[in-house]
Amino acid sequence: MAENFEGQVVLITGGARGQGRAHALAFAARGADIVLCDRCADSAAVRYPLATEADLAETVRMVESTGRTCISSVLDTADRAALDALVARAESELGRIDIAVANAGVSVAAPVQSMTDEMWSEVIGSNLTGVFNTVAAVAPGMIERGYGRIVTISSMLGRAGNTSMVGYSASKWGVIGLTKSAALDLANHGITVNAIAPGNISTPMVHNDGLYAMMRPDLEHPTRDDVAPVFASLHAQPVPWLEPEEITRVVLFLADQGSAHISGIVIPVDAGNAARVTG
Ligand code: NAD
Repeated sequence: MAENFEGQVVLITGGARGQGRAHALAFAARGADIVLCDRCADSAAVRYPLATEADLAETVRMVESTGRTCISSVLDTADRAALDALVARAESELGRIDIAVANAGVSVAAPVQSMTDEMWSEVIGSNLTGVFNTVAAVAPGMIERGYGRIVTISSMLGRAGNTSMVGYSASKWGVIGLTKSAALDLANHGITVNAIAPGNISTPMVHNDGLYAMMRPDLEHPTRDDVAPVFASLHAQPVPWLEPEEITRVVLFLADQGSAHISGIVIPVDAGNAARVTG
């Protein structure tokens, strides 16, 4: 695998921290210029802090310290016009977008009987409409140039259900349907579209007091050590969470020029949980 992205331009949504930051740094280290966006604002429907403008600025600083160019924008991926404007700016300043990683997402936890309209709209807006907007915004330029690699981020909950995950799971199953259909729409244009379905990844999305309390309702202030066995039970291998870089290496693989004839697939990176589900 060449894994050389010299001269290529990569758009990464939700790039201020977590997995998005890991992807940005890996592409930059391999020669790509980076286009980042993140909403950098909390949501009333999300019970943990989302990224801040300082997080986004830090990712930009880290990318630029590799010598690469980095464009960034504070925007909500549910806002199609904002994404279109960022893509237009990137195409004008950097010439094109070769690779897009539709990574931005939120976790909204509530059982179906108490999920509010606001929670549902947030999770579908960020996790499904946001991915559609990303793919739709980059597709015309990629078609024009006859080349593109699009990677979407689903979840192991895009292959199964779980308690209190009705909206999240629906959004992530949706990402897989979107990915497969977009792969067919773009198959004649040198563009691949593939999904990754991560297990528990060690980012602020899982390491927060709200989720810890949900996982250990028997404890008043559960710690990382207290929740680790519960997280591990969601995997088959005995590990509670994986590092973001384990997702990055699959993103790099799918984004490689040599992966030209891999399209419409889902790659689980979930410590063996995939063995428990079909598809
Ligand atoms: P994270 O919370 O650290 O990062 C997500 C980033 O997306 C944040 O910077 C957040 O501000 C941004 N974001 C959220 N909604 C946005 C929106 N509408 N517009 C723009 N930016 C937005 O979590 P992460 O683990 O790095 O998550 C990355 C992706 O991986 C998400 O799609 C998530 O659903 C998925 N995922 C995560 C896990 C996990 O266990 N962490 C597991 C499976 C899938």
